[in-house]
Amino acid sequence: MGTLSSAAVAAKKSSLTPKAIISQKFGSKASYKVDEVEESFPNECPGLAIRQKGRCLYRCHLQLPELSVVSGTFARKKDAEQAAAEKAIEMLGIHVKENNPTEEEARDELVDRLAYLFSSEFLSSGHPLSGHFRAVLKRKGHLNGCIPISVMAMYDAKLTNLCKHINPEVESNPLGITSIILSAAEKLSGSLLPLEDHLSLKRQSPHPPDVLQSVENCESTLPESFEIQAIRIPSSVNETIETLVLNLSSASYYLDVIAEALGVTEASRVQVSRTIGKASSEIRLFFCPKQQLLDQSLEPLEVHRVQLQGSLNVRASYFAGQEVYGDAILASVGYVWKSANLFHEDMSMRTYYRLLINKIPSGVYKLSREAISVAELPMAFTTRSNWRGFFPREILYTFCRQHRLAEPVFCIPNSSLGTSTDPHGTCKKLKVTEPIEEGKKSPVLAAGGGGESDGLTGDFQCEVKIFSKCQDLILQFLSTKAYKKQTDAVQNAALKVLLWLNLFFRESNISSEKLSSHAKELGIQFYSEYFLKEFNICSLVHDFWMSFATVEDGLLDRKHMKANDDMVENGVFSLNMGGQASGVNPSSGSLVCIGYTSCLVTEGGTKEHLESNEQFEFEMGIGAVVPCIEGIVTQLSVGQSACFGAELPPLEFILAAADDSPTTISLLSSGKCSLEHTITLLRVTEPLEDRMEQALFSPPLSKQRVEYALQHIQESHALSMIDFGCGSGSLLDSLLDYPTSLDKIVGVDISQKSLARAAKMLHSKLNSKLDYKVSSNRIKSAVLYDGSITNFDSRLCGFDIGTCLEVIEHMEEQEASLFGDVVLSSFCPRILIISTPNYEYNVILQKSAPQNQEEDPDEKNQSQAYKFRNHDHKFEWTRAQFCDWATDLSRRHNYSVEFSGVGGVGDVEPGFASQIAVFRRKEENPKNVEIAHHCKVIWEWSEGDRSKSAL
Ligand code: SAH
Ligand code: MG
Repeated sequence: MGTLSSAAVAAKKSSLTPKAIISQKFGSKASYKVDEVEESFPNECPGLAIRQKGRCLYRCHLQLPELSVVSGTFARKKDAEQAAAEKAIEMLGIHVKENNPTEEEARDELVDRLAYLFSSEFLSSGHPLSGHFRAVLKRKGHLNGCIPISVMAMYDAKLTNLCKHINPEVESNPLGITSIILSAAEKLSGSLLPLEDHLSLKRQSPHPPDVLQSVENCESTLPESFEIQAIRIPSSVNETIETLVLNLSSASYYLDVIAEALGVTEASRVQVSRTIGKASSEIRLFFCPKQQLLDQSLEPLEVHRVQLQGSLNVRASYFAGQEVYGDAILASVGYVWKSANLFHEDMSMRTYYRLLINKIPSGVYKLSREAISVAELPMAFTTRSNWRGFFPREILYTFCRQHRLAEPVFCIPNSSLGTSTDPHGTCKKLKVTEPIEEGKKSPVLAAGGGGESDGLTGDFQCEVKIFSKCQDLILQFLSTKAYKKQTDAVQNAALKVLLWLNLFFRESNISSEKLSSHAKELGIQFYSEYFLKEFNICSLVHDFWMSFATVEDGLLDRKHMKANDDMVENGVFSLNMGGQASGVNPSSGSLVCIGYTSCLVTEGGTKEHLESNEQFEFEMGIGAVVPCIEGIVTQLSVGQSACFGAELPPLEFILAAADDSPTTISLLSSGKCSLEHTITLLRVTEPLEDRMEQALFSPPLSKQRVEYALQHIQESHALSMIDFGCGSGSLLDSLLDYPTSLDKIVGVDISQKSLARAAKMLHSKLNSKLDYKVSSNRIKSAVLYDGSITNFDSRLCGFDIGTCLEVIEHMEEQEASLFGDVVLSSFCPRILIISTPNYEYNVILQKSAPQNQEEDPDEKNQSQAYKFRNHDHKFEWTRAQFCDWATDLSRRHNYSVEFSGVGGVGDVEPGFASQIAVFRRKEENPKNVEIAHHCKVIWEWSEGDRSKSAL
């Protein structure tokens, strides 16, 4: 379904929605009528489409005096209405014009505005600028009542907007505003007086005494004198950034104090930037370019009447998003709405570095998690319920705002409305039902998918576009993957873009080839000319970070330090683990909670606390924490702790986390420094599926599956067994606790992490001397293979019994079918047991699932269909679907098949919770197979190993 798309883009450009335009033109003569339309499903693979109730969609009819139009179908009424309005605008050929005053009108309005600002009425208004007007009344001598034009321009949005109408160039050159205001002031020459080289204005006649009296009466309760800390950003990048103290007082104008700190005589020389960081903050840059007022006779070029001189302050410009010349002061001070007092706060180095890292996607994420030293922007968005911190979409908005780009545009192109699936490959991968907006087919859909979308079925794709302020397309991404939920598509698309942007910031001197090749991998298209135009300055600032780091020689060779030490994976060294292993280990997809403390340590052993967190939650397996932490957490079980050394993160991250930057900097420069993390694994929350299976079934569903398989193993007197998709080896583990006739066991999986865990478990069980009563003493060999069970490998052939428990739903349906064919035609186990969730049972599971789990509230009513049990499931079949699939397979490969299950009761609706098919080979001797190896042996054990360890 198409939402947003061109309607949103049009709205962006004109700031008027299509509906607003129609309403301007036709008023009440425009009538909208919205119909409900039932979503339809493509029905080319009967019985295979997952049965879902059609959602309700909307279509809008717009009736105008001259014509009527009908929109496409949309999930939301308002989108349908906007689309209809947009269509009408197009058909009528309405030229979308903004509500623009002419230049002449704007000049007149500007004069009026100026007159108002200098009026006595304005003086007592709650406008932030009025605070300045009151404060300048305290200035001494001829400067009394004299207000800097730069201040008027910066604190009155209305004035700025009018100036922009008069000359759009001031958008990129705010200083031009001074000239335009001066011209307007000339028209008020009877009442306004330009002063100080025409950089400030004052009233010809003072305010009446009663007005001055009342201003004094409501005087704020500012202390007579007070200090605030600010940051000086020297224009030369070779000079370090440092703190400075501003001595303010209730009897002075704060901009005069800042002017003095910047080495000029008075406030009119000071330029003020826009606010920096959060929109609500009062953090601004103050700087004093050498301004030169040019010959006033150059009237038409008034923007150029003021020229800036001095050297560009790269760091400050980067912050402000405008050109800053000369030294700059970063301070949090100013007048705010409806407050008589001057707002002021100290700026610390820490705040400075936080602002700095807030310009980088991973920095925004780290800040949102308040875990700068451990959090990392995750590589994937799995589910809303597992995500912590700002969502990718939010981060992308923040990023664009920070870099003064236009808002990112998200668009859901035409996509299939139903899920069309086909194990035989006769249906198209993605069905595009009636295009919702004609002529706007997405390139990927038109090309029939590709890349990572192979075999994927889903409903939503998302396109992201990033434009500069002047609407140049900077980059564009269209996911090749389709998602079941719209939010997942949007969040994942935003995340892809963020990950790529991050790369650019991580490596400032990244070559454009490397950048392009990464972009290509991710499916991102970027227009390097425009991209570099916007981001050039970032790399300059980033370069500075580098050179700063080399100045601090402690950081210089951090890569080489400890090289001979006991370095383990991910740059971890000096690892110490403590605590009893509880057996509860985190696995991919589970939510873990750790407590941690990070310290800076020097070689001499001096420690400086950096950051700690008593409870920090994250999803495992998606890189939501720095690699060294994730690597260590996989090795821990609940209750255990680890302390280890790690490489230093980039300097700006350390300083953004550090409480006391001067100490930190002196530590960093005093010698070789590294980071020390102490972490404790507090809890592990299994994925929803596992939680449900444990809570609702006794014994837990997973145990029931294992017992079911075990029973067949025992009854069949099998000598050899193979577990396809063995995971962490839960089945192999349990069967060693019971007597069986098995002498050979094999597990295959594609997850190395799971296989590693399975290997550890098998190793300890098979070598244990205590288990002589049970089957483990009969086992002669055990092997774990890393490889996909959809590929042929002769070593997987000819087993007495094969199991494949809860695996097929983790593959795309086409792959599951491929596995079915390979296993029955080539591997040919005598018996094969396949289990998979019964989709129809989800009604029961999800009704009893705890309420707080998911989800987007506005999604709830949208999708009545029940969700899958686990975010990694690519499908879940109904009993009929599973039966069709298995019956067809068995027929084609000369097997018999029987259906059964565990959890619930088979002949009571809605059947078993896990459905099981047991295949039995009909022909006695399978054909000979050719030798082929594609799996990798991950771990191998034979009887001899036991005797070795027994010695
Ligand atoms: N059978 C185990 C694990 C089930 S989870 C149990 O019942 O506990 C599903 C497992 O299938 C995961 O470990 C996953 O890595 C594995 N898997 C998914 N696709 C696979 C493939 N193509 N080849 C091998 N294993 C696969
Ligand atoms: Mg599963």
